[in-house]
Amino acid sequence: MIAPGGTIGILGGGQLGRMLALAAAALGYRCHIFSPEPGGPAAQVAAAETVAAYDDRAALHAFGGAVDAVTVEFENVPAEALERLARQVPVRPGARSLRVARNRVGEKDFVRGLGLQTTPYAPVEDDGSARAADRLIGRPAILKTQTLGYDGKGQVALAGGDDLHDAWHGELGGRPAILEALAPIEREVSAVVARAADGQVASFDPVENRHVNGILDVTLAPADISPALAASAQAGAERIVHALEHVGVLCVELFVTVDGRLLVNEIAPRVHNSGHWTIEACETSQFAQHVRAVCGLPLGSTARRANAAMKNLVGADVEHWRTLAADPAAHLHLYGKADTRPGRKMGHVTWLTPLGAPPPEPPWPPSKTTS
Ligand code: ADP
Ligand code: MG
Repeated sequence: MIAPGGTIGILGGGQLGRMLALAAAALGYRCHIFSPEPGGPAAQVAAAETVAAYDDRAALHAFGGAVDAVTVEFENVPAEALERLARQVPVRPGARSLRVARNRVGEKDFVRGLGLQTTPYAPVEDDGSARAADRLIGRPAILKTQTLGYDGKGQVALAGGDDLHDAWHGELGGRPAILEALAPIEREVSAVVARAADGQVASFDPVENRHVNGILDVTLAPADISPALAASAQAGAERIVHALEHVGVLCVELFVTVDGRLLVNEIAPRVHNSGHWTIEACETSQFAQHVRAVCGLPLGSTARRANAAMKNLVGADVEHWRTLAADPAAHLHLYGKADTRPGRKMGHVTWLTPLGAPPPEPPWPPSKTTS
């Protein structure tokens, strides 16, 4: 166990690292941020910062020597960096969680191997596999890069007449890709779960996620789905963390189909944007829970104290901070990012309603202003 007073090393310097560092501070821990960019959202609230590339071996070694455990807020940290650090300190979650979650084909193969469902998919890696995928998946479909996609980037929708070869070599630059059948989505939900090193797990209530332009716009907690479907989403997430021997928080994004099936879309092996509502609405936030798992403390209660709506402040949305700050019901979070850019997550705001009441519809700003 890492006792309070110890130092948690965080790879990645964005808003997830910032909220982890704030939760760690509340429990008496210090955080040391490793990021290629100086002065980011996490470093602004952390005790120490290393500014270096993820393949800078000397910097990684010094960082590993300065911390008691290492975690990630960003899943695309090179596996080699994690493997090097793991020789010095506990790395939680381990390299396996990141390896599985990093590649869309490997991720779907993995969850199918656990008996969970996904939309039909096939790899697109050369002309032969592209032809086979085209035949197998048909249209409508979505072509995605296998790695490094986020917020809808690295994806092309393919309708009836669209040529797979053109889209793959054009928009995706011929990089290894996956062709997925377009799922008949009724709504999108996610399940956030934590696993401790001793195998204890704790799930938060599944939530509904609404996206605008491929970016999460609103999360409603709890998701308005049947108790059976909610239990099944949680059970799936728990199966995944056990199979990965994951330590820490993990999020599973799922589709509920129009015919009531649950399909796994993707895994994020870390705290997740769809879990931000837990800061105000749960006994233990996803960030405090992750700190507990990383440090070997008992997991906290995931009980929901209120219903919640979380709205991301994307790009120019953040300019409305004065109005939000004046709303007594709004729990405003700003990430300290210097430059506002379209599509950039600048902050979020959470509104609560009492248990039993419907989740609040975010009163402001309206979703259509998000772009
Ligand atoms: P990202 O890593 O960018 O979040 P996702 O795979 O989650 O990538 O895709 C982003 C969004 O695109 C999803 O939340 C969903 O709305 C839509 N989408 C992705 N894949 C499919 C699919 N196979 N069928 C229908 N919609 C999809
Ligand atoms: Mg996603």
